[in-house]
Amino acid sequence: MSTRYGVTQEHLGELLQTLNEPAYRGEQIRDALYRQRVPLEDATNLPKALRTRLVDELPLAFSTATATTSDDGQTTRWLYESRRDGAQVETVLMRSPSRASVCVSSQAGCAMACTFCATGQAGFERHLDAAEIVEQVVRAGHGCPQRVTHVVYMGMGEPLANYDETWASVERLHTDLGISARHLTISTVGVVPGMRRLAKEALPVTLAVSLHAPDDDLRSQLVPLNARYPITEVLDAATEVAGAHGRRVSFEYACIAGVNDAPEQIDALARLLRAWPGVGGAHVNLIPLNPTAEFPGRATPRAHLRALADRLRAAGVAATIRRTRGVDIDAACGQLRARHPITKDHPASTTMVP
Ligand code: SAH
Repeated sequence: MSTRYGVTQEHLGELLQTLNEPAYRGEQIRDALYRQRVPLEDATNLPKALRTRLVDELPLAFSTATATTSDDGQTTRWLYESRRDGAQVETVLMRSPSRASVCVSSQAGCAMACTFCATGQAGFERHLDAAEIVEQVVRAGHGCPQRVTHVVYMGMGEPLANYDETWASVERLHTDLGISARHLTISTVGVVPGMRRLAKEALPVTLAVSLHAPDDDLRSQLVPLNARYPITEVLDAATEVAGAHGRRVSFEYACIAGVNDAPEQIDALARLLRAWPGVGGAHVNLIPLNPTAEFPGRATPRAHLRALADRLRAAGVAATIRRTRGVDIDAACGQLRARHPITKDHPASTTMVP
């Protein structure tokens, strides 16, 4: 059976025939699914009886285990459970007056094992398919007063380790939801073959590279994949993507007190990135480490973080400090990890914490 956001045009046509519905309903259904910004049950452009039938025929891939909204109402985090096999993933919606961004998961769990990341600590469960990625975005948009303008692949998982499904979801977010390619950001820990494939794609999506260290010794301790794809190779592949897409690349740097935040380390980072030939130059995003259960590190204090950003800028490298959103609801970077065991005979419930 197809899921609601995985159904092909062809299958939908067949379904309409079995339901004795005219073919023009196909376009109305697409409209209901992708443009109305309400759940299918409430899409009033379709007759009620047809909606009820479709809700049964085209089930959602995920049931909602929990939904939690931050105190300021701007950040919502969902924990979803696959109806097929119970795999759990998380999705976050972040709103500001000018944009609504959805942070999606590309895998249930992650095999990259970055030591400071909650998902990495939990290990790999399975890849998500494109329909499951698209469903996260569409459902985050339901009830959101703004249109979803941005999608970042920064939830659970390594998107480039699930290349085909990730890319299929990118194309669908672009065509079905009309999200501009440059507002689709793929974040990678440095899966070089995936980055090289990305450089060959026609849609100029934005790339973010999780760097976290200025040298291979330290990076290999934090990011095990670095043993396979060291910094120079990652930077070369990022140059290719920047050139092919004509887009500036962001380098993410989780700042861990006493580990990667010494002035000399930041100077080394500046030397590395100032010499990086990518189009538009490098942009560094300093992220204060979010605490996770199995990593003893602490975040770089705010004042020191500001000094590091100034130091990078003085050395000629663009730098910003990432605002950590959703810390009060555990939705910040690297904290996405399903941790609410759900029993099968316990029906999915939705809780909104004000
Ligand atoms: N696997 C991809 C995407 C998911 S992680 C990647 O690594 O880029 C999204 C971002 O959150 C990455 O930059 C990641 O390094 C960062 N991150 C992970 N754990 C974190 C933590 N505990 N504190 C701050 N940032 C973290």
